[in-house]
Amino acid sequence: MVEKGRAAVYEGLGKPMKIKEYPVPEPEPGAILIKVRRANICGSDLHIWRGDVDLANLGQPLPIVFGHEMIGTVAKLGEGISTDSAGQPLAVGDRVVYRYFFPCGRCRACLRGDDAACPMNSFGVYGLVEEYPHFGGAYADYYYLRPHHTVYKVPDDVTDDMAAPANCALSEVIYGLDKVKLSFGETIVIQGAGGLGIYATAVAKEMGAGKVIVIDGITQRLELAKAFGADEWIDMREFKTVEDRVMRVRELTGGWGSDVVADFVGFPQAMVEGIDMVGNGGRYLEIGNIAPLKTCEIDPSGLVINNKSIIGVMLYTPAYLKKALDFLSRAKNSYPFEKILSHSYPLEKINKAFDDALKGKVSRATIVP
Ligand SMILES: [Zn+2]
Ligand SMILES: [Zn+2]
Repeated sequence: MVEKGRAAVYEGLGKPMKIKEYPVPEPEPGAILIKVRRANICGSDLHIWRGDVDLANLGQPLPIVFGHEMIGTVAKLGEGISTDSAGQPLAVGDRVVYRYFFPCGRCRACLRGDDAACPMNSFGVYGLVEEYPHFGGAYADYYYLRPHHTVYKVPDDVTDDMAAPANCALSEVIYGLDKVKLSFGETIVIQGAGGLGIYATAVAKEMGAGKVIVIDGITQRLELAKAFGADEWIDMREFKTVEDRVMRVRELTGGWGSDVVADFVGFPQAMVEGIDMVGNGGRYLEIGNIAPLKTCEIDPSGLVINNKSIIGVMLYTPAYLKKALDFLSRAKNSYPFEKILSHSYPLEKINKAFDDALKGKVSRATIVP
C-alpha cells in the first residue's frame, strides 16, 4: 500500500483549509523528502490568510499547500545527495532547514551572485497539491525539497523552536542588515517588535550597533525587545503622534537622527515616519511591506537634500541561512529565543491557529504536524 501524508489544502481567499491525504513521494535524484517538525505562521502567511495578498492574482495556481517557515527531518534522500550545502554528511533522521524559494540560476541577478533578487523567487513556490510531489508547502506532514537545493543540518544545540524561523525571518533580517551596511557603533531604529523586529534587535547588537531603539505599542513585545538587547524603546501609547516619535528618535541620537532605520511593520505609513527618523546621510531598510498596492506619500526632496537612501530587501542568499544557524548556536545563551514562538497547534487546528494569530492572540504561532 502507498504511504500517505496529510496536508492542509488552501483553495483560495476566504476559504478554510481542508486536511487531505496524498501519497508520500519518492524523491528524484538530488531531491530530499522531509518530515516537517515545525511550520510557523509568518507575517506573510497572515497577509495571504487575511486577503491582502491574493495568490491567484499573483499567478499562483490553486489549490496548494502553503507555509514556508519551517524545520524538518530528512525522511528520504534522493540519489546522489550525501551532504548538506556546507559539506556536512547528511543522513535520514537529521534535522535540517532549507530555502523555500527557487531562483532560476541564469538571470542577471542570479549571475551576479544575488539570487535573492531573482524574479523567479515569487513564482511557483508552491506546486499544485494534486500533482506530484504534492507536498510543496510547510503545513503538511511532509515537504518535498526540489533537487540540488540549499539545505543545512541544524546544530544539535539549536532546538526546533529556535531553528524553525531561521529559513525566513532570521536569515532575511541578517541579510537585510548587511545590505543596509549597518556598521560598528551606528544607531539603528527598529520599527515593529514582531518576530522580524526582535531578531533585528539582537542581530544589530551582535553587529556592533552603538544604540538600538525599538518602536512598538504592545508591552509584551517591548519587553521581549529589551530581552533581545534593545537599548531604548519608544512606546507608541506614550509617544502617540508621528511628530512625538520622530522627535524622540532625535533626542536619543544626539539631535542628529538615526544612521539606520528599519521597517518590520508592514504598514506603508511606517515608511513615511521612518524616513523622517533617518539622519543626514543615513539609510532606510524596507522589509515589512510585502502586500502589493498599499501606498504612501513621501517627499522625495527629503531624500535628496539630506542624502538619504532606501534599500528594499526580500529573501536572502544561501549562505545567510548558515549564518543564521551559526548565530543561533553561538548566541543561544545570550537571548531568550524560545520566547519568540508563543503557541503551538496540531495540523488539524490550522484554521484556528490562523484566526488566533490574526486576532493578535498569539505572537508567532507554530504548527506541529
Ligand atoms: Zn516568512
Ligand atoms: Zn534568477
